[in-house]
Amino acid sequence: MLLLHYTGMNSAAAACDLLCSAQSGVSCHYLVDEDGGITQMVGEEARAWHAGASVWQGETDTNSRSIGIEIHNPGHGIGYRRFPAAQMQAVVALCQDILSRHDIAPRNVLAHSDVAPGRKIDPGELFDWPLLHAAGVGHWVPPAEADGRLLAGADLVRFQHLLRNYGYGIEATGEADEATRKVTDAFQRHFRPGLVNGVPDLSCLRTAERLVAAAA
Ligand SMILES: [Zn+2]
Repeated sequence: MLLLHYTGMNSAAAACDLLCSAQSGVSCHYLVDEDGGITQMVGEEARAWHAGASVWQGETDTNSRSIGIEIHNPGHGIGYRRFPAAQMQAVVALCQDILSRHDIAPRNVLAHSDVAPGRKIDPGELFDWPLLHAAGVGHWVPPAEADGRLLAGADLVRFQHLLRNYGYGIEATGEADEATRKVTDAFQRHFRPGLVNGVPDLSCLRTAERLVAAAA
């Protein structure tokens, strides 16, 4: 897996200090600053501590099966903003480079939020997944337009099944329960960023259908 994060700190230098601190308990393989500078922090063959409690395709030890990239952005807590073009170009090139060395399926190029819904929201809805996809990195389909129609009954079960089969840690309960709202929020941040509210709606279902069809 290739897992993308934002730093959520005031500066890339502060993030670098934290990620190098033995006391912090966190680390990652690469750090990308806003100018596009890339720092390798951990060798790709080694396990870094970037994912934490997480699940994808039923597997919970994400750190043992992933490369983690921290992309500097202050984050939602202290000034979330668009990722500059130079930074995105560096992220694209770095991802392409990593994918040339590792057999990572497009569906396993993910946001931290995808594997830790409800706990993490990075790199967030401003991250340019379409740009990555256009460069051959990860999955993306044009999202269906949101029209406010909420999912219930069989449609909600279908949505939950689609997300579960795709990899998300969700049960097909047929209810818009708390776990479903958290996973829906993560799905929206990645694949339907125009409206992030954690509410499963028809646009989410249509987008998930497109995504699964494209992934087949
Ligand atoms: Zn993260």
